[in-house]
Amino acid sequence: MTSVLPNAGSPLLSVVCPSYDESEVIGLFYSELSSVLQILEGLRYEIVFVEDGSSDGTLEKLNEVAKGDPRVRVFSLSRNFGHQVALSAGLDLARGDAVLMMDCDLQHPPSLIPQMVELWGQGYDVVSTVRTASRDASWLKRATSRAFYWAINRLSDTEVVAGAADYCLLSRRAVESLRRMPERHRFLRGMVSWIGFNRTFLPFEAPARAAGASKYSWTRMVALGLDAVFSFSTVPLKLATRIGLGVSAAGIVYLGYILVSFFLLGDLVEGWASILSAVLILGGVQLAFIGLIGEYLARVFEEGKRRPLYLLRQTPPADP
Ligand code: UDP
Ligand code: MG
Repeated sequence: MTSVLPNAGSPLLSVVCPSYDESEVIGLFYSELSSVLQILEGLRYEIVFVEDGSSDGTLEKLNEVAKGDPRVRVFSLSRNFGHQVALSAGLDLARGDAVLMMDCDLQHPPSLIPQMVELWGQGYDVVSTVRTASRDASWLKRATSRAFYWAINRLSDTEVVAGAADYCLLSRRAVESLRRMPERHRFLRGMVSWIGFNRTFLPFEAPARAAGASKYSWTRMVALGLDAVFSFSTVPLKLATRIGLGVSAAGIVYLGYILVSFFLLGDLVEGWASILSAVLILGGVQLAFIGLIGEYLARVFEEGKRRPLYLLRQTPPADP
């Protein structure tokens, strides 16, 4: 493989692109990406496509692209494993001295790559990008995204920068650090913050998708948000203690009030309505916290099974 590449001694950049049902946009993406990568001087590159169990002929399109360019390596997962796992597979499969992760719908503009590579050359291990605006995001998506970042930064010790995209460049040691994190429920943006190292940010405006539709439905986004909270914070688990203590304190105050009004004022407080509401509130709080503990327990269970994160059904012919 190395022999077909020009400047065999120079550093290798891997561009990792997860692709799921992207047949409409692959051709355009490949040509735009290649035209940017070709102008990078003193750098060899490879493009690692991780096809994520598509059903619209994406794999065939990718294989066609790979036939015409030895720098393109196509891997295919045995089924749809999801964006975050596809990215993680790409990190395992990339061979570069630096690895760049980007979506292949052109919402992550390839024109930023030269600047990202330059920052890597200056010694940054992580060059992240931050979306300042997104052309096809509705106000609801923007508002929920803002609320999410607010919540995760309150709940977790790891800072997750608002608007930070999965579009980033990682040095080899940053990649190796991420590969040592074997968790099943992955929120890569948080994981990238967690590893630390020298990090810098580049702002960009995300254009609308070049073609096709977003694969992130509301349910998938909520699942990713919950993964972020449950993987990066134990605050919800501890909330039960605080809320429990708060409710008990309120109960004691209320009991004091009842006793005072009974003994001093001779009033017998009629209580069935207040008892019912207390029962309902406490019942609800208890059920909610049992569910919450269940969320963490389910994650422990899934980690305990130690299944592989993904399975491959196709690797490039040149690879073992
Ligand atoms: N993707 C993937 N597997 C999935 C869903 C998405 O590999 O199950 C890829 C998709 O092909 C794209 C990237 O992840 O390259 C981001 O997905 P999308 O553009 O749908 O997300 P959005 O930009 O709308 O958040
Ligand atoms: Mg997109």
